[in-house]
Amino acid sequence: MRTQTGTAILLEDYRPSDYQIDKVDLDFSLDAQETLVTSILSMRRAEGVAEGAPLVLHGDELELVSIAVNDTALSEDGYELSADGISINKLPASDVFTLKIVTKINPTANKKLMGLYRTSGNFCTQCEAEGFRRITYYLDRPDILSVFTVRIEGDSKTVPLLLSNGNCTDKGSLENGRHFAVWHDPHPKPAYLFALFAGDLGVLKDRFKTRSGRDVALEIYVEHGKEPRAAYAMDSLIRSMKWDEEVYGCEYDLDIFMIVAVSDFNMGAMENKGLNVFNDKYVLADPETATDQDYANIEAIIAHEYFHNWTGNRITCRDWFQLCLKEGLTVYRDHSFSADMRSAPVKRIAEVRGLRAHQFPEDAGPLAHPVRPRRYSEINNFYTSTVYEKGSEVVGMFKTIVGEEGYKRALDLYFERHDGDAATIEDFIKCFEDATGADLKQFSLWYDQAGTPNLAIETNYDEAHKRFTINIAQSLKSSVVTGNVEPMHIPVRFGLVGPQGNDLAYSGVTGADVTGDVIHVREPKHSIHFEGVEQAPVISLLRGFSAPVTIIPERADSELAFLARHDNDEFARWEALSSLAMRQLRQATHDVESGKAVKSSPELTTILHEILSDETLEPAYRALCLSLPSEANIAREIGSDINPDAIYTARSQILDDIAKECLATLQATYDKLNPAKPFVPDATSAGIRSLRNRTLGLIVRATGDVELAAKHFSNADNMTDRADALSVLALQAPDAEETALALETFRARYADNPIVMDKWFAIQAMIPGGGALERVEQLSKSESFSWENPNRVRALIGSFSVGNATGFNRADGAGYRFLCNATARLDDINPQVAARLITAMRSWRNLEKKRSDFAHEALKSLLSKEKLSRDVRDILERTLA
Ligand SMILES: [Zn+2]
Repeated sequence: MRTQTGTAILLEDYRPSDYQIDKVDLDFSLDAQETLVTSILSMRRAEGVAEGAPLVLHGDELELVSIAVNDTALSEDGYELSADGISINKLPASDVFTLKIVTKINPTANKKLMGLYRTSGNFCTQCEAEGFRRITYYLDRPDILSVFTVRIEGDSKTVPLLLSNGNCTDKGSLENGRHFAVWHDPHPKPAYLFALFAGDLGVLKDRFKTRSGRDVALEIYVEHGKEPRAAYAMDSLIRSMKWDEEVYGCEYDLDIFMIVAVSDFNMGAMENKGLNVFNDKYVLADPETATDQDYANIEAIIAHEYFHNWTGNRITCRDWFQLCLKEGLTVYRDHSFSADMRSAPVKRIAEVRGLRAHQFPEDAGPLAHPVRPRRYSEINNFYTSTVYEKGSEVVGMFKTIVGEEGYKRALDLYFERHDGDAATIEDFIKCFEDATGADLKQFSLWYDQAGTPNLAIETNYDEAHKRFTINIAQSLKSSVVTGNVEPMHIPVRFGLVGPQGNDLAYSGVTGADVTGDVIHVREPKHSIHFEGVEQAPVISLLRGFSAPVTIIPERADSELAFLARHDNDEFARWEALSSLAMRQLRQATHDVESGKAVKSSPELTTILHEILSDETLEPAYRALCLSLPSEANIAREIGSDINPDAIYTARSQILDDIAKECLATLQATYDKLNPAKPFVPDATSAGIRSLRNRTLGLIVRATGDVELAAKHFSNADNMTDRADALSVLALQAPDAEETALALETFRARYADNPIVMDKWFAIQAMIPGGGALERVEQLSKSESFSWENPNRVRALIGSFSVGNATGFNRADGAGYRFLCNATARLDDINPQVAARLITAMRSWRNLEKKRSDFAHEALKSLLSKEKLSRDVRDILERTLA
């Protein structure tokens, strides 16, 4: 393990490699403990590089067996080994030569799940970002593109499947009960896209004909007997392939596309060329075991990894600072795909909720970094919400600024100009500029400045002159910004909403560039005058959440209430309602802290009641409106001196009041809603289930009718209803007999299904209050818990630390100590997952004094541990800085 503090790697230090690898021939002789990897690299010295310049290859935890240059073994003084790799000093004078390296690795001992490892008896790889160097010595950097040929040899009985990237060109039997397969990938690729899978799995097969006529075999590999549960993933894959052809003109480029599902995986999934490897929770689904959210996740992640074939694989990143080039764009593409498959406004609301729950706190805390970071010491810690989600928002803003047509021209140019390249953000921006003529210099600051910009808004209507004025001031606060903060180019979609709810016309505008329904905010301050506005409007701002900013509008509750009822943009209606609710929740929290009674606003309740009863609105939309801002969201808005208990109490009381006021309608809605039978996972039925289950939670809140939830649980014919009912029972009546019975029924039914048991762990981890920690500790000692399985760790300890504000933030600090101990324990096994886990404490400074002191102590004590991985140390040092 590399335990030293890594030196920071800086974007400005990038320089091209002295050597290229034109061709790679890999040979794997698989063995559980002693796998031999023979790598023959066709090396080429780059032009202008001095003869004999040392060649430094990356390596991590490798045993070197032999090394030869042009078939001559190197003596020990010809190279130098270090913990990070090998430096070869004796090289031939010619500019091309071959390097043959044999390494020995132990896949069974590899618990970091990076490189080649074992999962359920199978062999599997994960190489992004820097896992390939754990297989063999290599130029493990994304700008080294090479053509891979891979021969795999293994035991015919235990590993009948031998898979790698590209097309299979040869296979056959060998002596001693072994067999082999050869795979050739004609598309040059960086090593992080390399994949190997060898094992024994069942397969679901289908075919896809691309629009130019290529017949592609589609194969999804899952555990034997689970093949039917891959049907939805297959359907999602076929729809993704078709959508990418129709919307982006991107066709698939090999004869076979494979997905392998494994149960031990650090990430969600990985886009290796032609051979995606998936966390099995994002492949397997049937009504008995998967919720509607699981189905939606599978659809989105299958699409995401498939879309990477062009945005990531065909055009890859020059270096890891450019990670957002492939991730931001591909997230944007998968969001658009899901919006087309499902309801666009509902999807957009869910995205914004996710952004506020994860990215905004990251941007406001010590782990903030630009969408394109300029330095890192451990790249694994930059697979963040900022790179992915904010990166996607930036792509969305490009489209808002240059328009649909401009966006299409820019992407066409990007694919045409950079196919086969390892590209940069500058290359991407240049395509937009060249294709549309737009000047995007100021806009490109979105990639460089960390922090969430804020817009302060004031409005004024001058009745006599029929003039409406908006004053906008932008500001940016970030804990990590050093030097000058430059004003950003922020596209703000807007409407001037008249008394009847329609958008009012205006005859002219001064003070800012306004194109269509977009105000281009570019200056620190704008005073924007709309002339010829016949009636006093209410301004609707940031429609569709056109920019990832916060906004402080100086407006009365009555204006928010008006927009919540009348804005013609569905997102903006939801946003107005949320703002109104947030104002209430903050006031209520303040009241709880100062010992006053909490009063909920009749206006908020009335609007919620209207939305609940409005059958012209989609059920999924109504369900989202009934979910008030989360505790974490309220905490983020409050910003400092946070008391999670007060937030919980305030929110519960407001919800209780709303539930009691709306009870009759809730009951009528609950009785009336009947999702299609038998179960269909489509968006419409899912929406009906989500509204029905949301009303169930509120009814139980108002009436204490635990039996209703228990009945919902036992009558359920699908996992959404079963898991939602179990949540209602566990979270609202943790001590009820019905709850204990339901938890045990659920456990007994799914004991042998790890993906479903993760839900069982997660639901219990989120039961609020004082006993939560003891419950979680107990569960972590149970036989079915495993520290080696990332899904299980995330389900129990991740859910507790992120999703259980009162339990985790216990006033005595025991929750923090528990998480720090858990992180230390996990760090010995899987540093990457451990580092992710401890980010739950990134906002410790915002807590009230007693808690933040405890958190500080726990973090410092973890940092003082001797054997910390670079991953965890990096997060801790930044969190405490
Ligand atoms: Zn991705």
